[in-house]
Amino acid sequence: MQNPMHISSWNGRIDFDRKHIWHPYTSMTEPLKAYPVESASGVFIRLGDGRELIDGMSSWWAAIHGYNHPVLNQALYEQTTAVSHVMFGGLTHRPAVDLAQLLIGLTPPSLDRIFFCDSGSVAVEAAMKMALQYQQAQGATTKTKFLTVRSGYHGDTWGAMSVCDPVLGMHWLFQGMLAEQFFAQAPQCRFGDPWDEEDIADFKKLINRHSDEIAAVILEPVVQGAGGMHFYSPEYIKRVRKLCDEHSVLLIFDEIATGFGRTGKMFAMEHAGVVPDILCLGKALTGGYMTLAATLTTDKVATGISEGGGVFMHGPTFMANPLACAVAQTSVNLLIEDSWEAKVRRIEALLKDQLLDCLDLPGVADVRVLGAIGVVETKCPVDMEKIQKQFVDQGVWIRPFGQLIYVMPPFIIEEDHVSQLTGAIKDTISRGDMWKC
Ligand code: PMP
Repeated sequence: MQNPMHISSWNGRIDFDRKHIWHPYTSMTEPLKAYPVESASGVFIRLGDGRELIDGMSSWWAAIHGYNHPVLNQALYEQTTAVSHVMFGGLTHRPAVDLAQLLIGLTPPSLDRIFFCDSGSVAVEAAMKMALQYQQAQGATTKTKFLTVRSGYHGDTWGAMSVCDPVLGMHWLFQGMLAEQFFAQAPQCRFGDPWDEEDIADFKKLINRHSDEIAAVILEPVVQGAGGMHFYSPEYIKRVRKLCDEHSVLLIFDEIATGFGRTGKMFAMEHAGVVPDILCLGKALTGGYMTLAATLTTDKVATGISEGGGVFMHGPTFMANPLACAVAQTSVNLLIEDSWEAKVRRIEALLKDQLLDCLDLPGVADVRVLGAIGVVETKCPVDMEKIQKQFVDQGVWIRPFGQLIYVMPPFIIEEDHVSQLTGAIKDTISRGDMWKC
C-alpha cells in the first residue's frame, strides 16, 4: 500500500517541508524559505529548478574541498564495504586509529589523547566534562564553573549554551535555567592592530577574583564565529594562557570553526603559538561529508581523570563512526597534500582586493578579511528572506545573519567565482533596500 504521505514533486516536498520540518533557528509558523537542493558538485549547489549557485558558505565552514569530491566519495564507498558502523565500546577499528594518529600528529605534541564525538556541540560538552572531572580528581572541588568571553559561540547543547554569549546567544531565552558562568568583556583589540594591555584587564580581574571557582577557560582562538565574526589579537590568548597557568585553570580552545586552514594557519591558535589543555575540532574535519568531531587533551588531563580508577563519563552511540573517520582521514590528507596554504592565501588576497571597498557603500559599518573568511558588517540587520532571494537570483549561495554578510568559500574556489561572490555582495548592498531598520 502506498504511504499516503508520499510526495513526488518538488513543490509538494517544499510544502511538506514547510509544514513539518524544523530548520535551524526558525519558526514553525513563519518559517524562512528553504531552497531545495538537487545535487552539489565542486563549488556549485544545484537547486531543484536547475539553477546553479556558487557556494560562499562551505556549508557552515565544513565543505573545504567542495562537494561530491571523487577522492572523498571513494573513501566513503570503500569503508562502506568494510564496516559502516560498530559500537566503540569494547571494539576498535582501523579508521579510528588511523585518524587519531593523523590528528595527534597534526596538533601540538602535548595533545596526544583523543575522544571522538558526533558533533561540535558534543565535543564542547566533552571538553567541559573533562575539565570538571580533572579538577574534581585533583581535589579542587570548588572549581565547577567556566570563564569565557562575550560574543563567543560554542554550540546549542546545554553545557555549550551556558558559555555562549549571554545576549547574542540563547542565554536570554533560558535565563535562570542554564549553569551560570563567568563572562569577561569580548576582546577589543583587532587582529593586526597593536596590542593594548588594557584589553585583558576585565578577564584578568575575573580570573584573579574567582580562580577558586573556575575549572577552565573556553575560547574560540583569534576568530569569534557565530557570535559576530570578530578577528582579535593573538596577544589576547597569550595573556589568557599565562593567567590560566598562574591560577591552575585549564584552557579549552574551540577550533570547531577555525580548524583545518580556514584562518590561514592549520589551526588558529598557531597565530599566537599557544597550546591549550583541551582542543575541540569538528566541521571541516570530514570535509563536510558527515558529522564528526574530536576533543583532544594532554597526558596531564587524561591521567588526572583516570588515576585512582577514574573513567571519563561519556560514550555516544555513534562514537568514532568508521565512515566518518575514514572520510575525515582522507579529507585531512587531501588538505595536507593539496597546498592548502597557498589556496587560502590566494582567497584572502582576492577577498581583500574585492571586499575592502565595500566600506564606501552606504549602510556598511565594517569590512574584515582573515584567511578564507570575508565579512561585511552592516549598520542595520539584514532582511533575511529578501537578501537571500536576491543572492539566489544572482547565482550565489551566501547566507547572512543579523548585521553580517560573510563568505567562507571552499578552498578549491576559482578566482572568477570569488569575484561573483563579492560582486553579488556589492550589488546587493548597493540596492539599499535590504535592511530591517
Ligand atoms: N563551536 C563553534 C565555534 C561553532 O562554530 C559551532 C557550530 N557553529 C559549534 C561549536 C557547534 O558545532 P555543531 O553545530 O557541530 O554542534
